[in-house]
Amino acid sequence: MDKGHILLVTFPGQGHINPSLQFAKRLVARGVKVTFATTLSAIRRMNKTTPTPHGLTLVPFSDGYDNGFKAEEIKEVTSAIRFHGSRAVANLINASADEGRPITRVVYTTYIPWVAEVTHNLHVPSTLLWIQPAAILDIFYYYFNGYADVIRKRSRDPFCAIELPGLPLLTSRDIPSFLLHSDPYNFELLEFKKHVEILDAEPNPQVLVNTIDALESNTLRAIKKLNMIPIGPLIPSAFLDGKDPSDTSNEGDMFQKSTEYVEWLNSKPESSVVYLSFGSISVLSEKQREEMAHGLLESQRPFLWVVRKTDQYGENVENEISCMEELEKQGMIVPWCSQVEVLSHPSLGCFVTHCGWNSTLESLVFGVPMVAFPGRMEQETNAKLITHVWETGVRVTVNEERIAEREEFKRCIEMVMGDGEKGKEMRGNAKKWKELAREAVKEGGSSDMNLKAFVSEVGN
Ligand code: UDP
Repeated sequence: MDKGHILLVTFPGQGHINPSLQFAKRLVARGVKVTFATTLSAIRRMNKTTPTPHGLTLVPFSDGYDNGFKAEEIKEVTSAIRFHGSRAVANLINASADEGRPITRVVYTTYIPWVAEVTHNLHVPSTLLWIQPAAILDIFYYYFNGYADVIRKRSRDPFCAIELPGLPLLTSRDIPSFLLHSDPYNFELLEFKKHVEILDAEPNPQVLVNTIDALESNTLRAIKKLNMIPIGPLIPSAFLDGKDPSDTSNEGDMFQKSTEYVEWLNSKPESSVVYLSFGSISVLSEKQREEMAHGLLESQRPFLWVVRKTDQYGENVENEISCMEELEKQGMIVPWCSQVEVLSHPSLGCFVTHCGWNSTLESLVFGVPMVAFPGRMEQETNAKLITHVWETGVRVTVNEERIAEREEFKRCIEMVMGDGEKGKEMRGNAKKWKELAREAVKEGGSSDMNLKAFVSEVGN
């Protein structure tokens, strides 16, 4: 039976590609044909060690930045992706129809709302795959539906509560920094505005969300107009249900697998290791690296720290640390790792994270409590959810220079891993979410059922 043909279009960031590819794999495992389109530079960066499953075709398009780009070019790159991507999507839809395997649904990720406009003009239905928590979509939706003034006004006072229906009480530091004027990247706000306009124009907008019903039961239902459907966690299935033992890494991984750090983790006692990683975008300042390094040394705990040598655009970054020799006696520093493999390792005791949504969700899925050290964008909101809703972590406090000092890191790590009541509580909660995540993806679980319903809708 023909189960349909989905064109999945993804923004080229790693945080987008990882969950999208997992989504694609879930679909092909259920018999749907998937054409996966993103930029050539992103496809080139992918880890090619695992074969592409039957039914999934990767189709790169050039955005004119095939060898990567510099961070300061992001605005131009976003326009280039829109320009070249629009043509590529239209061409793919037309070519597939001509070849007798028409696209029955287009799915597109956050940041590229123009895909919905292209498909609308070609009369092909489209669905947004939201790769952040439902809470973030709620906030953007409210912002563009009458709450902008309240959010902007309240955010001037860091202690003033921002009350949005269905969401926990927020303050300015908990809302995405996009929404504050001070953020130099807020041109991206326009992309979110477009997302909301497109959803608003539909009579019954449906959004697939990389989250779990149990984690976001209120926020998924906060906006009556939106039918948000949780289908997560979109992480390699070998780590969830073990059904596909070959599916052990995120293809978006920019580096080949190393076994060295796995051997090192194997040599450590259960729940003893602190893992530190700040995503594919964040690069810490020298001052911050030094404070973190000394905080780790003072904590005296074994650690695995991802210190990048290049940024997400492939540019070399300065990441020297002064006390390297002492650090290497106590822990291990790597330029990249397979994070799902690390977080699922029994030696893991704590994740010091920038609170990117994939990292946050992966930590919840593997039951690892967190020290939240959010950077920009949606990470502040994720930190709030981690500390106040799921209660599996603590957020570091920064000083007036926005630096988290060594004592503060040590304090937070001790709070999460030590014998105090708070730590026990957080670890207990982490365990609970781990179990609920597995419930969601198993046969008959909420995410499994939602995905089945989507597949049958696409097939029809
Ligand atoms: N990641 C990884 N190895 C690393 C660091 C990150 O595999 O050393 C993966 C991580 O598992 C996650 C993604 O990269 O799936 C980062 O996404 P996230 O949303 O957390 O952060 P972003 O990079 O988008 O800020």
